[in-house]
Amino acid sequence: MNTTSTPKILVVGGGIAGNTVALQLLRAGIATTVVERATTPRPGGQAVDLRTASKEAAERMGLLPGIGKLRVHEQGWAYVTEEGKTYARIDVDMFDGEGPAAEIEIARGDLNQVLLDLIAEVDGPLDYRYGDWIEHLTQDATGAEVTFASGRTERYDLVIAADGVHSATRRLVFGPDEQFVTHLGGYMAFFTMPTPADTEDGWLTGCSIPSASFAIRPDRDPATSKAIITLRQDYDPALRRDPAAQQARIREMLDGAGWKAPLILDAMAGSDDFYFDQLARIDVPRLSSGRVTLLGDAGYCGSPLSGMGTAMAIVGAYLLAGEIAATPGDLDGAQARYQELVTPFLDKAKELPGGGIKMMLPTTRFGAAMARVNWRLMTSKAMLPLTKKLFAPGTADYVLPTY
Ligand SMILES: Cc1cc2nc3c(=O)[nH]c(=O)nc-3n(C[C@H](O)[C@H](O)[C@H](O)COP(=O)(O)OP(=O)(O)OC[C@H]3O[C@@H](n4cnc5c(N)ncnc54)[C@H](O)[C@@H]3O)c2cc1C
Repeated sequence: MNTTSTPKILVVGGGIAGNTVALQLLRAGIATTVVERATTPRPGGQAVDLRTASKEAAERMGLLPGIGKLRVHEQGWAYVTEEGKTYARIDVDMFDGEGPAAEIEIARGDLNQVLLDLIAEVDGPLDYRYGDWIEHLTQDATGAEVTFASGRTERYDLVIAADGVHSATRRLVFGPDEQFVTHLGGYMAFFTMPTPADTEDGWLTGCSIPSASFAIRPDRDPATSKAIITLRQDYDPALRRDPAAQQARIREMLDGAGWKAPLILDAMAGSDDFYFDQLARIDVPRLSSGRVTLLGDAGYCGSPLSGMGTAMAIVGAYLLAGEIAATPGDLDGAQARYQELVTPFLDKAKELPGGGIKMMLPTTRFGAAMARVNWRLMTSKAMLPLTKKLFAPGTADYVLPTY
């Protein structure tokens, strides 16, 4: 049991998961410190989707008015050949807003801003610090003593690690990454680029070549778009935290590719929000170790290919904050209930639709041609009912508790 019914909580990471849980804790009057390693809110990221229970959680937490102002109005996805000829289309309505193109899409950076704006409106006990991170952490039965890079040492009743796929807090408390991280056979890059003149309004348009795909996705501002590059590539430590090496690998793999590849590569060189990361699945069987609990990508991730990273972060944050607020004097109980409630959602949300990167990005010209035929068939009228089943979100039946 906790010794206090007014706990002091540390949230590590000011991304979607960290900011959502901080917002809800503050609204419950719980003293919350957030430390974000970056020195300002991190921009960037393409449109992320809110599906099934995450839509409901966002509505209950009052996020929808802010999202409504900043959301991207995407009509659907179109697939083109290297000559720019469209061979398949997925309209948002074809899957009732729950397919590959979701009904609610908002750029990751914009969603984070919606959360930060709501946090600023709460007159609660908040200490929000940029440019800081944990250097050292020790635990006993009732809390954790944390030393920050800034030199401060403080004690918290609970530490919520929401510091993303490469969570340093997870490494510090739960052990080395190898136990929890599975490389899914590829990498993805996102960055902002000027919208090419002949772009079809509101449509994400993509082209696949052997072992890679490149796409242009609408932004909120019609003058700009998001470039999305997916590479089929084994894990390569040389690509970690080295944008020059990452961009060189992309250039190598898209060299000579048709359609808009040259425009995308030109824009990449000058982009100021280039984001590149491995496609990784994160599985941590027990989300809590003593008084440290994992939230969002730090504890569970199916990679951007799952389209559910943000949904898991929002549902997880809603549940964790809800359980803490329900029993602020029993944080052990709240952590256990969070694990129990979130697990059925995660098990379904982490599944990759359509067979993962091997199906998505064949390595040969013949395989890529077959994948095109496959997409054309799957989006045809006759096959649509079956395709809908294949892409139906496994989380559709999940019932979100009410707090
Ligand atoms: C810049 C950026 C762009 C992204 N773009 C996309 C995208 O286009 N499509 C997609 O599907 N997913 C994207 N993601 C991942 C997506 O945001 C997450 O899958 C999902 O929203 C869950 O969020 P999270 O808060 O768990 O993790 P994240 O969004 O990764 O947030 C983690 C936060 O913790 C901070 N942090 C990291 N280490 C530390 C530390 N040691 N101490 C303190 N803070 C730390 C990071 O700076 C970051 O702000 C992106 C993530 C980032 C950071």
